[in-house]
Amino acid sequence: MTEYAAGQVDIAVVGAGHAGIEAALAAARLGLRTAIFTINLDAVGNMPCNPAIGGTGKGQLVRELDALGGEMAQAADACCIQYRLLNRGKGPAVWSLRAQADRRRYQAYMKQALERQENLLLRQGEVTALRLRDGAVSQIVLETGAVFDVKAVILATGTYLAGRTLVGECIRDSGPDGMHAAVSLGECLRQMGLPLRRFKTGTPPRISARSVDFERMELQPGDNHPLPFSFSTEKAPENQAVCHLTWTTEETKRIILENLDRSPLYGGVIEGVGPRYCPSFETKVVRFPDKQRHQLFIEPMGLDTDELYVQGLSTSMPEDIQIQMLRSIPGLERAELMRPAYAIEYDCLDPLALLPTLELKTIPGLYGAGQFNGSSGYEEAAVQGFVAGVNAARKLLGQEPFILSRSQSYIGTLIDDLVTKGTNEPYRMMTSRSEYRLVLRQDNADERLTKIGCELGLVPPERLEAVEEKYRAVAAEIRRLEHTGAPPSPALRDFLTGRGTSDVPDGCRLADLLRRPQLHYADLAPFDPARPDLPPEVAEQVEIWVKYEGYIRRQLQQVEDFEKMERRCLPADTDYAAITGLRLEAREKLAAIRPLDLGQASRISGVSPADITALMIWLERQPET
Ligand SMILES: Cc1cc2nc3c(=O)[nH]c(=O)nc-3n(C[C@H](O)[C@H](O)[C@H](O)COP(=O)(O)OP(=O)(O)OC[C@H]3O[C@@H](n4cnc5c(N)ncnc54)[C@H](O)[C@@H]3O)c2cc1C
Repeated sequence: MTEYAAGQVDIAVVGAGHAGIEAALAAARLGLRTAIFTINLDAVGNMPCNPAIGGTGKGQLVRELDALGGEMAQAADACCIQYRLLNRGKGPAVWSLRAQADRRRYQAYMKQALERQENLLLRQGEVTALRLRDGAVSQIVLETGAVFDVKAVILATGTYLAGRTLVGECIRDSGPDGMHAAVSLGECLRQMGLPLRRFKTGTPPRISARSVDFERMELQPGDNHPLPFSFSTEKAPENQAVCHLTWTTEETKRIILENLDRSPLYGGVIEGVGPRYCPSFETKVVRFPDKQRHQLFIEPMGLDTDELYVQGLSTSMPEDIQIQMLRSIPGLERAELMRPAYAIEYDCLDPLALLPTLELKTIPGLYGAGQFNGSSGYEEAAVQGFVAGVNAARKLLGQEPFILSRSQSYIGTLIDDLVTKGTNEPYRMMTSRSEYRLVLRQDNADERLTKIGCELGLVPPERLEAVEEKYRAVAAEIRRLEHTGAPPSPALRDFLTGRGTSDVPDGCRLADLLRRPQLHYADLAPFDPARPDLPPEVAEQVEIWVKYEGYIRRQLQQVEDFEKMERRCLPADTDYAAITGLRLEAREKLAAIRPLDLGQASRISGVSPADITALMIWLERQPET
């Protein structure tokens, strides 16, 4: 292949999926000349799996990214067609927004966002090689022979790297949705000695809406009052579509069990490790033999298409078996297959090779983001892309690295889990992964992170002012409720007893009433004549704080204790072999991962509390720096 000099950029982003998009936009918005490459421009921002944004733990990531100045939340509010707040029946620590997206509109939105971004070149072209100079990245090469000089590269290759798709016996080198796989780059990265491993994920079939009997299913409408993802979205989103609920049957199970010998997964053909929390249907049948039926959501792929997504029926069984499975399900007896389900195996990096900035420890200027780092999910990818893009830019601008802690955010928790603990399967975010989920709620991401987004230069000061104004109003209203009495009255007595809670014959503070589980902020309006007219998002914060104050204060204390540990920095060149009291396993793990601080050290698997004590004693003896 004849090569030619195609130009110079500061940052090259390989991949225009959910990670690459956020990385490129962040870097270009920080003033760096950036180029983003994708194998196919028509697949920018593609959703190869469920056409949805958010979900448990994922909704928190989208909101945090929005507060920091990322794009996904605004794209979601512009392109989603059905909204639900999950876990509403539980406490606010696990409330998570999830919205059905119009897949084509989402792609078009994101492609336009890239096309219109200053300092950014959007380019179709497969990157086949990286080149180093003095151990740092210096060039990328496209399959066409184009050579770009670069100062940093962000790898966000998703499920394309040495991708292989499997539909029963039909196995071929491929990326998702029939796109071609990135084989050459995979080989180049292996030769460079990157620690790559093989992961796998899968997707369910798509069927035609005209072939579905919706009468035989349960309707799943959106919420009455949908909430937007973005804190800057003023107009409340509207539900424009519905989902449906159905169940697999004994017959579906029998079809799987009778044809398990044709399953690439149970035939040992698939080598990659799949996500535990998103198992294929055949795995569900084998793993839960007593379960009679499994829940399926029939989800629209968009407003201008008849394609439906059968969520919960991810499989790599042969196509003829897939059709039998579908037609054994109530409402799908005459289902017409539009796209077969498939599994995809791909290469990704061992994230223990990364710094918390997502730069590789061994190759300066080379960053990883998204599925390439061993995670799974659009939201997990987007936040890593943002962090990698910001850090690549800040390093070139000679600025401090951008690292969020576990106590500040789910983003910090995700990245710390990946680079400190590693992962042996595609990593999916869940609220249970955070030890601080009561303070890291999806509703207060703006309070926690907008200031940081502003300091980064990615959030305009007016937005920070609006957020600070909002939380001043929250604090003022809480003070007012704490100091305003609700006098006893027959109306109040009847209302309280009507709600199954006791009367207050001597009256009480409004805040004390709100602390009662049976009562909500809106309920108290008739007994609170001086109430100011507050926006719903302020009222929501007031209610959460008043109801959960005790728990939140306790968790904030835990955060304080945690941050004390995080502030005990460990020098990068520490000789762990020389520290007495450390066990051999801990010496090896600490030397390999080189934690930035005592907190990160304490989360490395194989480093015990006794090892941490030995480290603390050693730190005490170190001269002040
Ligand atoms: C079949 C399937 C099922 C999935 N199921 C789930 C699931 O159930 N749950 C879940 O959470 N997630 C699932 N996912 C994962 C989800 O799609 C990804 O997590 C998400 O898309 C990752 O975003 P990303 O930006 O890292 O990569 P992607 O969105 O995959 O984007 C990768 C980008 O890199 C580009 N690219 C790759 N190599 C090169 C190269 N050499 N040169 C130039 N461009 C290149 C591609 O063109 C593309 O633009 C599934 C994915 C697939 C394919």
